[in-house]
Amino acid sequence: MPGTELFGAEERKEINDVLETGILFRYNHDAQRNNIWKAKDFENEVKKITGAKYALAVSSGSAGIMAALAAAGIGTGDEVICPPFTYVATIEAILFLGAKPVFAEIEETLCLSAAGIEAALTPNTKAVCLVHMCGGNADMDAIMPVINKHKLVLVEDAGQAFAASHKGTFTGLFGAAGSYSFDFFKIATAGEGGVLVTNDERIYKLADNFCDHGHDHVGNNRGMENHPVVGFNFRISELHAAVGAAQTRKVPAIRENNLVNKKFLENRLAAIPGVTFAKLGDPNGDSGTFLNLMLPDTETAKRVVATFNEEGVTGFNYWYTNMYHFINQWEHIKEMRTAAKLAVEVLGAPQDYKNLHLPKSQEVVGRLISFGIRCTWTEAQMTELADKVAACISKAMQPVNA
Ligand SMILES: *Cc1c(COP(=O)(O)O)cnc(C)c1O
Repeated sequence: MPGTELFGAEERKEINDVLETGILFRYNHDAQRNNIWKAKDFENEVKKITGAKYALAVSSGSAGIMAALAAAGIGTGDEVICPPFTYVATIEAILFLGAKPVFAEIEETLCLSAAGIEAALTPNTKAVCLVHMCGGNADMDAIMPVINKHKLVLVEDAGQAFAASHKGTFTGLFGAAGSYSFDFFKIATAGEGGVLVTNDERIYKLADNFCDHGHDHVGNNRGMENHPVVGFNFRISELHAAVGAAQTRKVPAIRENNLVNKKFLENRLAAIPGVTFAKLGDPNGDSGTFLNLMLPDTETAKRVVATFNEEGVTGFNYWYTNMYHFINQWEHIKEMRTAAKLAVEVLGAPQDYKNLHLPKSQEVVGRLISFGIRCTWTEAQMTELADKVAACISKAMQPVNA
């Protein structure tokens, strides 16, 4: 969790700027705020890194996904192709808009594959919500032709992939809109927060309205603003935005350190028989937040995880059994246990969520063990970790070799 490692004087200064004026609200109050606009600063920092024409800071990455989908025209009854390996927020955003998730296969990039998307198409497919998982990037060279050929709306959940890019284009900017998360577990944190990015002015304006009860943000009398569309409250506070701005300024340096540390560990672990690494759509566009080990099969990966636990290795995720990232544990979604009826329950689901056939995704996630990269690791710490990890993997592989 690189951002949290570097929380310090810069973040405190930004928060203090806000505390001194007392204007915790991102809009209006021009006379009292002493020209302090932290949400705008945060947006500008994100634009600087990604080159996005428009950025909208919101209350969470989840809110950003929902706003991106809504602004892209996704609503009741629309089928949205999505991966079974993501943070569950992707699926929730689709469901709460009244749309219908259609789960498709991922590949070794840990993201939806072009073939997976094509296989999941129906005459009712409207959009793809592509998720760039574990700090990396999807195979956009293969995916974009499918999106274009079938005239699909593309929305990117880049919750884990801020500062990741693919051949010069940053994640989130391939389709209609994308969303980054700045929650406590990401490359940079605002405490809670997200940023929607797009190059399309119309989509930006709609998202801006949608995330603030429809307010058009024209003029300086909030009570008299017009509301072009129905919206909701997905606003970010100035306090959160202040932290987000300070953290985002640190991201280029964080990414550089992450990549050095990731390379160091990969070099040490690559020689272990049976160990490979997850692929990247563009190896040069990684944000370096995760070291993604691929074991030969799920059984071996499970033995490695058990050995890590026995030997006290920490800092890794085995997503295959994680409650929030992989469909196998999403009983609440498979059984549609909802607080109140969703559109998909009334209109009918496009798939039998309890009996999905996604063997490739099962295989990829079953083999995957991810370590969160720390940007402040010393070489000594990484050497110790690599040695421990190598020893555990060798030990866990023995029964196979015997
Ligand atoms: C973290 C994350 C989200 C949710 O972001 P929040 O800011 O916590 O709402 C959505 N999608 C992915 C892939 C994530 O990793």
